[in-house]
Amino acid sequence: MTQKKVVVIGGGIVGLCSAYYLSQEGHEVTIIDKGDLNSGASHVNAGYLTPSHIIPMAAPGMAIKGFRWMFKPSSPFYIKPRLDKELIRWGIQFIKSCTPSHVQRSMSTILEINLLSKELFLDMQKSQHFNFHLETKGLLMAYKTSHAEKEEAEVVAQAKDLGLKIDQLSPEEVLKKQPQAPMNIAGGFWYESDAHSTPELFMQNLITFLNKKGVHFFLEKEVTGFKSKGSQIQSVYTSAQEIQADEVVLASGAWSESILKKLNIQLSVQAGKGYRLNLNQSTGISLPAILLEAKVAVTPMQGFTRFGGTMELSGINHKINSKRVAAIAQAASEYYPHVHISQEELANVKCGLRPLSPDGLPYIGRHSKCKNLVLATGHSMMGWSLGPASGKLVTEIISNQNTTISIHPFSPERGYGI
Ligand SMILES: Cc1cc2nc3c(=O)[nH]c(=O)nc-3n(C[C@H](O)[C@H](O)[C@H](O)COP(=O)(O)OP(=O)(O)OC[C@H]3O[C@@H](n4cnc5c(N)ncnc54)[C@H](O)[C@@H]3O)c2cc1C
Repeated sequence: MTQKKVVVIGGGIVGLCSAYYLSQEGHEVTIIDKGDLNSGASHVNAGYLTPSHIIPMAAPGMAIKGFRWMFKPSSPFYIKPRLDKELIRWGIQFIKSCTPSHVQRSMSTILEINLLSKELFLDMQKSQHFNFHLETKGLLMAYKTSHAEKEEAEVVAQAKDLGLKIDQLSPEEVLKKQPQAPMNIAGGFWYESDAHSTPELFMQNLITFLNKKGVHFFLEKEVTGFKSKGSQIQSVYTSAQEIQADEVVLASGAWSESILKKLNIQLSVQAGKGYRLNLNQSTGISLPAILLEAKVAVTPMQGFTRFGGTMELSGINHKINSKRVAAIAQAASEYYPHVHISQEELANVKCGLRPLSPDGLPYIGRHSKCKNLVLATGHSMMGWSLGPASGKLVTEIISNQNTTISIHPFSPERGYGI
């Protein structure tokens, strides 16, 4: 196999996992990131590995739901109305994708890549090089209302058809599983397939490993352009240097659309802002759970409990919207009456930008306009879960190997609404 000089743009979970598998294959890897690898979506997320999330974000009814939520400042989903060409294009592609046939086609694809990624996470956990928190305990979808129960029951039926094991639990059964944290709910669905982790620990493990392995890091350096010959990138420019590349991996999350414009490639990616609150108080919460009506994720991480949520399409910015943060805190107390988030915990809120593709599937693969570029972006709400699988597939593409699973559904040049 030929060893290649590979430049990875972006040091989030997708970039780091790409670097991990590329370096294991013997390639010479350089990671460029405009930040210091301490913040952003790959650090603030809920840490779920999500075989349960078989329904893509673009699903029937979502466009109408989103439109209704736009007028409620504390709703879990918000689009800041603005005349922005990219947002309008993304919106049209999203609406086109909200069809039953898209959901039907995507379910087994999403499950397959999630299961592969979970296996890869577990392989890494077993390896002597790593020591990070990952528990294969499952995930509770908790509901208060019969409406949410009914909606989730429909997903459960489809997930069972695909082979997932799911039990419906009464409030008493949930309490038995988690005696220290009584919940004010009508019940829940327990997905056995899922797992949870502490993102910062995994990211730190990967960075340490990659440093030891000799991967070059150029941090706080923004990629500003490319030197190309025909449809081949020769080098990548940052604010400080020019770095030669045989291959380039674009794993730049929510920023991907603007970077690709420099190569005359059009790809729709919007930023979907989400917030996290870390609770250092002893909550007694031991079960990862999604609070269905509030769309809030709760994760018992190593040493603290995390509440995360909201999906805000307001462009690329890290402004904190206190109304949305307050809605997460309120949901916490409504579902766990003994939990009260302190002012200090509220003040410590952090946000991150999910890279949203219009149809909810990631983009993984080459683009016909550039011979030596591999895209790995647009992972939406599943980027954490899909990090290792994405890195593995990127490496197989660059090493000219057969891919472990078909990457056809993730083609960056796919159409929408067909
Ligand atoms: C609150 C919240 C909860 C979530 N929970 C989950 C969950 O439980 N499970 C799950 O699977 N997913 C979850 N997600 C989604 C997941 O976090 C993201 O999909 C994932 O982190 C995206 O990773 P990434 O590597 O593609 O992008 P990022 O982590 O955003 O990394 C992209 C990197 O590219 C760098 N970059 C951008 N432009 C440039 C440039 N020009 N030059 C150099 N560097 C550049 C950025 O600095 C950044 O570090 C959640 C997200 C949020 C916000």
